[in-house]
Amino acid sequence: MHEKVSIYGISYDNVTLTEAAAIASDMLIEEKNHVVVTPNAEIAYLASKDEELCRIINSADIVIADGIGVVYASKIYGTPVKEKVAGVELGELVMRNAEETGNGIFFLGAKPGVGELAAGKLSEKYPGLNFVGIRDGYFKDDAEVISAINESGADILYVCLGAPKQERWIAEHRDELNVRLTLGLGGALDSWAGVVKRAPEIWIRLGLEWLYRLIREPKRFVRMLSLPKYMFAVIFDSLRKR
Ligand code: UDP
Repeated sequence: MHEKVSIYGISYDNVTLTEAAAIASDMLIEEKNHVVVTPNAEIAYLASKDEELCRIINSADIVIADGIGVVYASKIYGTPVKEKVAGVELGELVMRNAEETGNGIFFLGAKPGVGELAAGKLSEKYPGLNFVGIRDGYFKDDAEVISAINESGADILYVCLGAPKQERWIAEHRDELNVRLTLGLGGALDSWAGVVKRAPEIWIRLGLEWLYRLIREPKRFVRMLSLPKYMFAVIFDSLRKR
């Protein structure tokens, strides 16, 4: 069993990317909907001001430290997590495992056509993937979408509605969804589809993926202010606890 690390109100699973994917894939054996969330500093900061969101995140079966802010925060508290696990990479590794098992995959989220594009590109990379349904993320009728997911016979559901919308949606409907694994993965479909490019490897390695993203999408500036706010809050909180 791996340990849990509490960082500014959120209890993260202290696992590497490979370990997280193995745990998630193992959950497919059990007939129950398991939930994976990947909160970054922005969402963690939001959750620190929103008790319900905090409870929703902490009640997931796997909580992954996605983002360099959370990794730094874990060091500041003296309980470092093993590594940053990007949700998009975890999602892909789970898919790679599912290529062998043939588990049904459902994509929910992003703009119309993006899910299909993502599935097409992923199928080229992993020809054995079993896509059983795709829906865009701009729907009104939850019940209709849930029926489509359940009728598809999907085992793995990717929900990419952006955070914290997807975490709330998953928490509200997790018991109605007859799948075994639900992952909330923000912009992952955009990334797999190639609609939004991830930062080059060197930026990721230097912990500057957030900066690359800010340069590419300056409208994220206000949202991203929560990263320094989160860091200040963490430093203050850790000093207070010493
Ligand atoms: N999105 C969606 N439905 C909505 C709002 C957003 O499907 O009602 C999608 C949007 O098209 C994009 C993703 O959710 O594909 C959000 O991406 P973002 O990069 O903002 O993810 P985050 O940083 O919030 O995890």
